[in-house]
Amino acid sequence: MVMNTFIQYIKTDQFCQLGFNAGQPFLTPKHWFQFADDAVITTGEEYETQILLNAFTMWCNWAKMTLRVDKCKSFGIIKRNSLSKQYFPKIYVNHGLITAVKGNESFCYLGRFYNFPMDNVEHKQFLLSETSSILEKIDRLPLHSKFKLELYMKYLLPKISWHLTIADIDRTWIKQTLDTMCHNKFRTWLEIPPNGTLDILLLGKSKFGFDIIDVSTKFTECQVILRNKLKDSSCLDTQNLFYASSSNCNVQYDGFSTAKQVAKEIRKDKIFNIESKLTSQSLIIKSIWRDAFQGTAKDWHSAVDKLPKNIYNFVTRYLNNTLPTLTNMVLWKKAQNNLCHFCLNVQTLQHIASSCKTSLDEGRYTWRHNSVLKHLATYISSVRRDFHVYADISGFDNPSVITGCNDRPDLVISDNNQNIYVIELTIGFETNMAKKLFKEKGTIQGSL
Ligand SMILES: [Zn+2]
Repeated sequence: MVMNTFIQYIKTDQFCQLGFNAGQPFLTPKHWFQFADDAVITTGEEYETQILLNAFTMWCNWAKMTLRVDKCKSFGIIKRNSLSKQYFPKIYVNHGLITAVKGNESFCYLGRFYNFPMDNVEHKQFLLSETSSILEKIDRLPLHSKFKLELYMKYLLPKISWHLTIADIDRTWIKQTLDTMCHNKFRTWLEIPPNGTLDILLLGKSKFGFDIIDVSTKFTECQVILRNKLKDSSCLDTQNLFYASSSNCNVQYDGFSTAKQVAKEIRKDKIFNIESKLTSQSLIIKSIWRDAFQGTAKDWHSAVDKLPKNIYNFVTRYLNNTLPTLTNMVLWKKAQNNLCHFCLNVQTLQHIASSCKTSLDEGRYTWRHNSVLKHLATYISSVRRDFHVYADISGFDNPSVITGCNDRPDLVISDNNQNIYVIELTIGFETNMAKKLFKEKGTIQGSL
């Protein structure tokens, strides 16, 4: 309140030459910036600062307010031989000299650090140490990898977002340092090898991704929010600040209308990268995009979220095809040859999941198929007591009762209204989904 009284005092016409009032003719633009009890005076000449400060000192003495000279800083830049150089102004408060910021030092105003090169070195140091220490803390917690990712999103990113907002750091620096640091931890938590892509992790949930955003994406979002706040401000001076700074790197942030649009655009690039640049690592995810119903993504995520850590990590690596198949092991120089130990054919992910002749002959695929079938049949019987479930496994009536022994389907369900539903279960490799579906449709039509 006392500060406000002072501001009202120096805003009057009587003191317009002091520079607080923007309407005065000599000292434009504003020379006095005030936020609560923090004030900054900026002037073109050193003596102008002293005039403003003298008025302030006199007022403080009258109001019996103490001005702590040890808490004040002065910072000066002068042009000599067409070169800007830092110099050390001599400004006094009650005959006490205000300490000038030295050549290699910064001063802090409202959380933002300023130094002569304007290189944001303190903000960079803070971001590096804070990100690293929080990541290490999360790393040490005995948690499921999905919770570690959640802590990254909901604890780490908000913790550093203030510095990402106020400091205009180069985005490339953030990508090369902070993104890399976080990516290394994501790999450790999800057991993804160094050459495995993290693009799938960074996709939205509708694309079967994990909805994670990079620090560099968060930084762009923060900058867009800041630029929008300046643009939409009710204060004319703040609006002018927006238009005066709509150049250089701010052009890229002003191109986004909302912060939400940032992640959307960046994810579009990830999708393009997966579709056009990745081959073996994009095999599964592209098939899922092509063949899965859009509405199933939500159910898929709720199922994946319930998985124990080891299977959760397995699914992530399955999605980007970075499981240690012998083909991958040879690529990573961890194995001599890529031949399946059972059948001596090339061991790819597809080979293990559905194409190994020995695994087929030994009944491994049948066991997996019947396990899923049993789960389905048991679940349907438990939720719909009015259904009669026929399944081609022990414990259930056999579908052959209805369809005959040839080409009997996996699951037949009849209801009280004499409707019959035929379900054929297929657990093939993702790239064969559409082909299998077509084949099974033919089988069902044949059996009916
Ligand atoms: Zn094999």
